[in-house]
Amino acid sequence: MTLHIETPLIESRALSLKTGRDILLKLESLQPSGSFKLRGVGFACEEHKRNGARRFVTASGGNAGYAVAYAGRELGIPVTVVVPQTTSERAKSLIRAEEAEVVVHGAAFIESNEYARSILTDNDAWLHAFDDPLLWAGHATMIEEIARQTERPDLIVCSVGGGGLLAGVIEGLRRVGWSDTPVLTVETEGADSYNQALKAGTPVTIAGINSVATSLGASKVAERVVALAKEHPIRNCLVTDAEAIQGSVMLLEEHRVLTEPACGASVAALSRIPEYFPHAQRIVVIACGGVGTTSQQLLEWSDFYPLDGDLFAARHSAESNSLDSLKS
Ligand SMILES: *Cc1c(COP(=O)(O)O)cnc(C)c1O
Repeated sequence: MTLHIETPLIESRALSLKTGRDILLKLESLQPSGSFKLRGVGFACEEHKRNGARRFVTASGGNAGYAVAYAGRELGIPVTVVVPQTTSERAKSLIRAEEAEVVVHGAAFIESNEYARSILTDNDAWLHAFDDPLLWAGHATMIEEIARQTERPDLIVCSVGGGGLLAGVIEGLRRVGWSDTPVLTVETEGADSYNQALKAGTPVTIAGINSVATSLGASKVAERVVALAKEHPIRNCLVTDAEAIQGSVMLLEEHRVLTEPACGASVAALSRIPEYFPHAQRIVVIACGGVGTTSQQLLEWSDFYPLDGDLFAARHSAESNSLDSLKS
């Protein structure tokens, strides 16, 4: 038994028609904690429990904190989640509903993180949101599942915050013998810490996060994913907030699935396939999920960040125009 569940891999007829490719969605949004985070966090928490941990401590008001709270309740281990003052009431009450203790400390993440580390005792296990091999090992199970659910795809699309998901995806690809299957990684323009790290060749701390995709807002990515980019066919692309929001709107309207823009970004990135991986036909999109966005918030954003035309129409027609000009 694991804390995470096996999630469906569904064909998206709507996205396949829009892109002219075969698009499969791995619905990690259906995990009991609402995101893929439970795979890694659940795996790590079980390991820590086996090693005698009496409490789980983390500093995340987002999907990682929520997953730790869920795992702790399921495993019967108390959880303390330290969050900054900026954390929404909704996020705090979600975490409290999992019976975790929420400690508000500091104006920003860096302060709550420091405080959380300062309260650790010998009986506590520390849970990082993305930079931990135990997490990657748990996230990797998603690719093992995909390998049981379908034939080998030409491409995997996933978003990057701190890089835990990506490190897990690559570990999974290696486990199932798909180590040359390329990965298109996605960030929003205001949360581009991986993009900057790839340019610099080493993780860099970005000046600030300026994006609605807050779950992608790690100011510095894990070293591991910068190293992996030298070993594995990975290309990173950026989408705008407006595009990421439309990606989530599309998942909501076409598949009745509510996600954060951090997840919608990966759907939006399908519009970049002609540029980055023109020959990829069968594509698995990791619909990573996220509990941070309500349907009302998503629709408000959609009004506030309008997109000119359809997410795919412009680029798709540009592509078919160039095909037409080739033919004539
Ligand atoms: C955590 C998270 C991400 C980013 O994952 P990393 O492991 O930080 O790269 C993306 N989407 C959602 C919904 C998340 O919760």
